Amino acid sequence: MQSEPDITRKTAVTVPCPSCGQSVKWEETSTWRPFCSRRCQLIDLNEWLSDEEENQQKPD
Ligand SMILES: [Zn+2]
Repeated sequence: MQSEPDITRKTAVTVPCPSCGQSVKWEETSTWRPFCSRRCQLIDLNEWLSDEEENQQKPD
C-alpha cells in the first residue's frame, strides 16, 4: 500500500513566456509553448530577425 503523492498529474508545469513573461502551461495541447500565444512567438521571432538584419546592414 503506497501513498506517494501523484505530483506529475496534479502539478501543472508552467514556464514563463519569453516575450511577455506570462505563465504558460507546458502541455501537449499548448501549441505555442514556450510562448503563451502565436502573437508572442511572432514577436520573439521578429526581434531575432531584426537583430540579424541589423548585423548585416551595419556599415563597416
Ligand atoms: Zn506571451
